[in-house]
Amino acid sequence: MKRREFICFLRGIAAGFWPRRRTIIAAMAALVLLPIEVSAAGWLSDVFKSSPKPGKSPKHVTSPKRATLAKPAASPKPRTVKLAALGPVALNPSVLKPVATMCDPSKFRIVLDVGHTAESEGATSARNVAEFVFNLRLAHRIEEKLKAEGFAETRLLLTEGKARPSLVKRVATANDLNANLFLSIHHDSVPNKLLENWEFEGKKSHFSDRFSGYSVFVSRNNPDFKTSLAFAELIGKEMKAEGLQYARQYTQAIMGRYQHPLLNKETGVYSYDQLVVLRKTRMPAVLLEAGSIINRDEELKMDSPERRDIISSGVTAAVKEFCDPRWAILGAL
Ligand SMILES: [Zn+2]
Repeated sequence: MKRREFICFLRGIAAGFWPRRRTIIAAMAALVLLPIEVSAAGWLSDVFKSSPKPGKSPKHVTSPKRATLAKPAASPKPRTVKLAALGPVALNPSVLKPVATMCDPSKFRIVLDVGHTAESEGATSARNVAEFVFNLRLAHRIEEKLKAEGFAETRLLLTEGKARPSLVKRVATANDLNANLFLSIHHDSVPNKLLENWEFEGKKSHFSDRFSGYSVFVSRNNPDFKTSLAFAELIGKEMKAEGLQYARQYTQAIMGRYQHPLLNKETGVYSYDQLVVLRKTRMPAVLLEAGSIINRDEELKMDSPERRDIISSGVTAAVKEFCDPRWAILGAL
């Protein structure tokens, strides 16, 4: 059953046209088979190749950001969105009823984590621009759109310092903020062995036009993996709806040790269990590689306000759906 058919199925139920029992059973069987296709996938830039050993406990780490960000008066309790990606639980009857409120956007706190730091800039694009620059611009745009949609508690998380300590700081800050959702913003590259040489503006540079696309990562070690996966699926679905393709190379043997399981071949959601920012955060957490900046053509697109608008609209739509599945079921499709 395709997602759209599933939504139609839900709409039918919402409208009072209950399908025959056999149809429900067939739908449940289809959902059981839908999401998990294990194959290989995965590479991220060096800052994430961290040791799987648990880091220092966040509560012992001081972060300069923590002092400047106010704690929420109360921690909103968003309900876990249950869409097709979660399999048969999607047919829980309570999910099929319109729900009064899933969360209050004005209190819902999403942390937008700007990947890398000014000191440790992540990947370098084909035209020698730091990934951090791309991450910051896109995260700002997403923040603007979310706030314009009423998500007033949205926080941009900008971290300083070296790579590894910055990861611990990010996690500590997000945990301290009692965030409801954590989204880390990145741009993709390739393993060094796949880089090719060229010259840009007289400078020796590197590129790989071989791969392109976004990808979405979750950690099965996150304390709320199911909710993380649900949000990741929503982002992937929205990226796809915007006409974007996900990065297929993570399923290829050429990626060697950078492979990770592909959790959903429709939406481009992969697992990357050891990522510090995904496994140590105490709230649902997702990492978005918005696109490749080592691909010369895609770098130009990622550099454009138009592409930033497309991606930030997709993320905003995903957050809205996460907060209220009625938006997905009854909203514009
Ligand atoms: Zn990165």
